Parts: sequence; structure tokens; C-alpha cells
Amino acid sequence: MKTVSLFIDNEFVPAHSTEVLEVVNPATQEVIASSPDADAEDVARAVAAARRAFDEGPWKETAAEERGRILFNLADIVRDRAAELAELETINSGKPIVEAEGDLSDVAACFEYYGGLATKIHGEVLPVPDNAMSLALREPIGVAGQIIPWNYPLLMAAWKLAPAICAGCTTVLKPAEQTPLTVLALAPSFAEAGLPPGVVNIVTGLGEHAGAPIVAHPGVDKIAFTGSVEVGKKIMRAAADTVKKVSLELGGKSPNIFFADADFEAAVDGALFGVFINQGEVCSAGSRILVERSIYGKFLEAMVEKAKRIRLGPGIERSTQMGPLVSREQFDRVREYQELGKREAKLAVGGAAAVSGPLARGFFVEPTIFYDVPNSARIAQEEIFGPVASVIPFDDEREALRIANDTSYGLAAAVWTRDIFRALRAVKNLKAGIVWVNHMQPTYVEAPWGGYKQSGIGRELGRWGVEEYLEVKQVYINLNEQPIGWF
Ligand code: NAP
Ligand code: MG
Repeated sequence: MKTVSLFIDNEFVPAHSTEVLEVVNPATQEVIASSPDADAEDVARAVAAARRAFDEGPWKETAAEERGRILFNLADIVRDRAAELAELETINSGKPIVEAEGDLSDVAACFEYYGGLATKIHGEVLPVPDNAMSLALREPIGVAGQIIPWNYPLLMAAWKLAPAICAGCTTVLKPAEQTPLTVLALAPSFAEAGLPPGVVNIVTGLGEHAGAPIVAHPGVDKIAFTGSVEVGKKIMRAAADTVKKVSLELGGKSPNIFFADADFEAAVDGALFGVFINQGEVCSAGSRILVERSIYGKFLEAMVEKAKRIRLGPGIERSTQMGPLVSREQFDRVREYQELGKREAKLAVGGAAAVSGPLARGFFVEPTIFYDVPNSARIAQEEIFGPVASVIPFDDEREALRIANDTSYGLAAAVWTRDIFRALRAVKNLKAGIVWVNHMQPTYVEAPWGGYKQSGIGRELGRWGVEEYLEVKQVYINLNEQPIGWF
């Protein structure tokens, strides 16, 4: 069993806290590592390192071009180490190896994109009516506290670290308690890529023990968080004490809407892909599947047939299409929703833990489809974060859009139709930060990611992602040498 430690000032250091957390392989329940459950003192040490690097340098003096080069180096290193990191990601998070490999390719692309963007951050000159020059400068915000979930462990770390480094910030990052291994495995490569000590610091531990002190610390200028709405609200409240900037990505209950004129085969595929990819542990999961009544029965039947053939297994086996859930806690949560669904709607397939043969050793649940689900049901309103789909019929476009928007969330939505008028009306009327037409889930580092309504605040990725790590400084330069002449 491996013992991991904190990463501060480009070195692995023992924690002040003597509490440790077990890291588990969710496919087998084997304990594969132990990690520190860091405390406020550990966080203070990491913040001090990040502050030093930001306030005193050399990071402060590192040119944008050099920051860009460092990010390109990181992208190259990730590509070189992709196989090893993907395997570790699968062992720690449960996801199928093919998906982990896709994540690693996205991690490299993320570092690369922000490497290119580093030299494109610039201010503006504003036309003002007096004899003066008015400038708006863009400056890094300072020390960023970054708190991430377990569903895409290394990719979520990259989404946070890359734009922060690009902007010239320094960071203290807390991975999820369940999945600290890949970002710590990458950490030794930070110095190799050229990052000075203190730019990226990693503190492991529970949200209450290691996360809350990051949010409370006066030396942290900004919090970037991805996770649940409940914790997002707590973070927003706690950040108020020091008026930290916050960006939040809080998941959703995304509608995936199917009109009768959509290509049938592509649509059924898209419905399953939208909700079952990554075991359904996806913030943008298309967990509400809205189907036009004229194809409803046939569509449901086709979905069920395909869902029954999804190959569950340890993610490390290349033939596996769906791995275990990440933890006992998440398994219990999803099992509760499966039981709740049986009371709230009709079960079409699944609805239980998957226990045949070796699956009994891990946190496996059957891909589950409920149908005739009232949109007001809890399984249609609450984020389940597992392979559980709610299929809901609708009669016309108006009703489809009304149901789609009838949620407190607004992260993503998808619409499937060959009618361009209808597709564009849906694009215009869906209250979501991301809308896909005739697809669901493609995610590109070039394009903004984030939610309307309670799905969050701010945007990640693209040039929007770096804005979250920048302050604007207004500068007035007087060009008139005469005294003001007022008093
Ligand atoms: P969570 O509790 O929101 O965890 C997200 C991150 O926040 C973790 O690193 C967590 O630490 C940390 N955290 C928890 N309490 C905190 C606090 N008081 N202050 C600072 N940081 C804190 O999510 P979860 O418990 O892992 O999963 C529960 C549900 O959240 C899921 O079923 C799903 O519905 C939702 N979720 C959404 C996303 C998304 O992408 N939007 C991702 C994951 C989960 P720990 O290590 O202690 O958890
Ligand atoms: Mg948690």
C-alpha cells in the first residue's frame, strides 16, 4: 500500500495532521493508498507557500511567454505519462480505462490551450473625454483556492490549474478525499515543466478539515469549486467573510430532448451515452430523457435493449463499458435513488446493485431506466450522479421546453431533431449554459463551460476560464500639466 503526502513548494511533505484517509479501489474495495487528512495548519503552510510565490517571486516576474512554455511542457509530460496516469485514474476512480485515456488526452489539451492563451491576455485603452489616457489592465487575482470532485479527478485538476497558471496566479488545490492519487502522481512533473516552488500546492483531506480552511483563509483571494449544490452554497456563505471571489460549478439535472423526427438509432445511442458515460457520474449527465409521445414506447424499448447489453466490470479491463461507482457512500446514495424511483415511477431496467461474480466485490450498480417519470419526482429533480435515467414523455415542443426548464439547475441540455427551426428555437429557449444539438456531452477546452441558475457562477474553459483568475485595474494617466485649479 502506498502512502501519499502533501505537495508544497514543489516537494512532498508530511502533514501536520496525523489523521489519515484510506484510498480505495472501487472495483475491488481494496485499500490502495493512504493520504493525509490535512488540517488548518497544513492549509496555512500551503497558503504561505502560494503567497510567497505570488508576492515575492520568481513567479511574479515570470513572463507570460514563459508561463505559456511551462504549460506546453506540462502538456508534453502528460502525453508522455498518459498510459501510467490513465491506469492510476481507473484504479482510483473506477472509470473504464478507455474513458480514462480520453480524460488524459483532454488534460494535455487543457494545459496546451492555456499555454497558448498566456500571451493573449491583455488590457485595453479607453477613449475618455479629457486630456488623459485611460487604461484597463488585467492582473492575476493572487492565490486561488481550488476544490474539486472525484468524477474526473485529473481533468478537474487541469481545468482549475491550467487557467490559474496561465493568468499568473498561484494555487492551493484540494482533490476529493476519494481520488487524490493522479494529481499527486503528476505533481513531481510540475518542477520538471518549469513551475517554481509554491505555484501549485496540493493539500489532501476531507472537505470540512482541509477544504473549509482554504475557503476561510484570508491569504486566499479566490475560490474555484466544483461539486454539489449543498457544498457550493456553504462555500459561498463562508467566502463572504473575506469577500473572496467565487466560481462554482454545481452540476445539474440536464434534459436530453428527443423529437420524433430525429434519426432513431443515433437518438437512442445519444440518450444512453448522455446519461451512462462515466457511470453517470457526470455533472452534465442527460439524466432527464424527454421523448415525444409518438415514438415514446419504441424509444424506451430500444434503450432498454441496449442498456441490458452494457458490459459492467472493473474499469481496468479493456472490454468494460461501465465501471463501479467511486465509493461506498456514492453507491449507497445511488441505491437509495434506485429504490425511491420504484415508488415514484415505473422501472424499465436495472434498479439494483450489480452483484454477479466479481462485481459483488465492488461498488457496481445496474444501469437503471425509469419511465413515466413525473418531472416533479425527486428522481427527476435531484442530481443522482449515477447510472439512473428518468424517461419523460411530452406531446409538443412547447411542453418539451417547459419540462426541460422546470428545474432549479441549468448546466446543460440537448435537443435531437432534423428540423432546423425547432432546433434553433430550442437553443434560444433552453435555460442552460451548454446546449448540444444532435449530440450530448462533447466538451472542448476552447468553449465555455458552466451553468445558469443553481448550476453555478462563472465559466470554466476557453478565454472565459482565465477571466475567473484575473482582476481588472483601471489606470488614469493625466496628460494635462496644468494644476486642477479647483480650490
Ligand atoms: P461534495 O461534497 O460537493 O464534494 C466536492 C468537493 O468539496 C470535495 O473535494 C469535498 O471534500 C469538498 N468539500 C466538502 N465540504 C466542504 C466544505 N465545507 N468546505 C470546502 N470544501 C468542501 O460532493 P460529494 O460529496 O463528493 O458528492 C455528493 C454529490 O455531489 C454527488 O452525488 C453529486 O450529486 C454532486 N457532485 C457534483 C459534481 C459536479 O461535477 N458538479 C461532482 C461531484 C459530486 P471531500 O473530499 O470531503 O468530499
Ligand atoms: Mg464528499
